[in-house]
Amino acid sequence: MSRSSELFTAAQAHIPGGVNSPVRAFRAVGGEPIFFKRGEGAYLIDADDRRFIDYVCSWGPLVLGHAHPEVIDAVVETARSGLSFGTPTEVEIALADKVVEIMPSIEKVRMVSSGTEATMSALRLARGFTGRDRIVKFEGCYHGHGDSLLVKAGSGALTLGVPTSPGVPASLAEHTLTLSFNDADQVHEVFSEMGDSIAAIIVEPVAGNMNCVLPEPGFLEALRTVCDAHGTVLIFDEVMTGFRVGLAGAQAHYGVNPDLTTLGKVIGGGMPVGAFGGRADIMDHIAPDGPVYQAGTLSGNPVAMTAGLTTLNVITSQSDFYPRLSQRTAALIDGIQEAGRAAGIPIAANQAGTMFGLFFTDVPKVGSFTDVMACDTARFSAFFRAMLTEGIYLAPSAFEVGFLSAAHGDAEIEATIEAARKALRTL
Ligand code: PMP
Repeated sequence: MSRSSELFTAAQAHIPGGVNSPVRAFRAVGGEPIFFKRGEGAYLIDADDRRFIDYVCSWGPLVLGHAHPEVIDAVVETARSGLSFGTPTEVEIALADKVVEIMPSIEKVRMVSSGTEATMSALRLARGFTGRDRIVKFEGCYHGHGDSLLVKAGSGALTLGVPTSPGVPASLAEHTLTLSFNDADQVHEVFSEMGDSIAAIIVEPVAGNMNCVLPEPGFLEALRTVCDAHGTVLIFDEVMTGFRVGLAGAQAHYGVNPDLTTLGKVIGGGMPVGAFGGRADIMDHIAPDGPVYQAGTLSGNPVAMTAGLTTLNVITSQSDFYPRLSQRTAALIDGIQEAGRAAGIPIAANQAGTMFGLFFTDVPKVGSFTDVMACDTARFSAFFRAMLTEGIYLAPSAFEVGFLSAAHGDAEIEATIEAARKALRTL
């Protein structure tokens, strides 16, 4: 029995499903999760000492790769002075200043400890600021597991939202409208009917939780237009896309400024950090300046702030950081698609900077939730397992995006394409 298998058995005794976040359990692809003990650059080393090239990168944060020496040194040095004080510290100012410098739409920013906390807080702020309850989100987008967000559309977009999880009160879900990503006409329709009662639109500007779907030209602009016309707060959830699609996230890439932005993942460099920020006149409604309550025992934790700040400092010290990573990501996608053609297996792909999505489908361009749902998930699962055998660790679900890091060099890209050639021949 492998060590991973032993650990998984042991984990299930006292941890629900043996994992502390459900997708880690491999239920979407079958088999048992692998337990890892170490990361080195582009590589993960498992409990059985097998090495994998990692395209999960801790689900996005590790844009510099695993255990980047500068980040680790800074974290260790900070930790020696104490792990947490629950008081203001200087490093919080440095990270806030850095975020504001990078993302011009953010005038003030509040640190939290996860992406979920960031989106929950941003929504409460938008509701408190506008005095409205209703929010709009999009099918296939994920914004963490806050109650208002675990909601799907009722029988039509204009009907009351329905909880997607037991435990979410229907009386809360009914305030959430779920529309179709990339359907600007539907957004206009809904806003002409009830725009003045909508507190916020929350959207992943590049959808990274239904694999990877890019916004159609004009979609994000349409959101900006209706929000301006109706006094609705536009929230870009850049937990995944921030410092990933490009330095200043999707908002800079597509040239559309939100009123509020939520951040996570890269901003913590692998430590638990989230943030929400934006227009000063909105942020001034947050306690202690304003009446909208929000707080956190470990918010702005100095060790976590140091990991995030050092990560951003390393990134911004290299002017070619994003072009270089984007090119490598493109080379990876091209190589895998080419391998697919050689094996007679059509693979569609989307890319946004250092994020990529591969789809087993005949559809040449995947641009909607419906397109994503039509993909062959059984084939993905077989591909996933064949890639694991070849030493490549992909996200264990057809609906997750892939991430590159600066540690993925030409050698790793080549090795991955070669692995894909072998894996695709076995399908
Ligand atoms: N928003 C987006 C866009 C995300 O991708 C995620 C997590 N994958 C979240 C919010 C929630 O973040 P966390 O898991 O840190 O709570």
